Amino acid sequence: MSKCIWLTGLSGSGKTTIANLLAAQYKDKGQLTCVLDGDQIRLGLNKDLGFTRSDRHENARRVAEVAKILVDLEILVIVALISPFSEDRHKARALFQPGQFIEVYVDTSLKRCATRDVKGLYTLQENGLIKNMTGITSPYEIPKNPDIHLRTDTTDAIECCELIKKHISV
Ligand code: ADP
Repeated sequence: MSKCIWLTGLSGSGKTTIANLLAAQYKDKGQLTCVLDGDQIRLGLNKDLGFTRSDRHENARRVAEVAKILVDLEILVIVALISPFSEDRHKARALFQPGQFIEVYVDTSLKRCATRDVKGLYTLQENGLIKNMTGITSPYEIPKNPDIHLRTDTTDAIECCELIKKHISV
């Protein structure tokens, strides 16, 4: 049974880094793998969406539906999406069979994310140049009961991948 590994967390927490590393490891083993990365998806499929609450719901809904199609084709799907609302993550899980959807909370303090500032968004936010910044001016609902809780403040990306692989067997 293939799976959907759904990485949720603040911008800069490490979702893309972990998703790409993990995908490369599974590809090396011959597993058909696909990363659905929020930043990439917003350049194409979801380029009509912004960062309001309703657009964020729709963003997550479309990604979940695509993930479902791919998982049904026996592709291992790794989603890297802030997906700030519990409701959206629950709805995504509901598309899959029990045990097929793995919610991974990529937990990094806001302070650390802002220090990394990989995409320069936190600086833009500080300068008042963007609205709806997750964790600051737009909510992030912390997963209450994630399948896997990664603390990337203290666990490096390689070890994070090991923890995910230990949890699942594809
Ligand atoms: P996101 O996709 O969540 O916005 P990115 O993966 O783009 O985050 O950026 C995370 C940054 O943090 C990268 O520069 C990455 O090298 C760094 N980083 C430091 N420690 C970790 C870790 N344990 N896991 C993932 N990324 C980490």
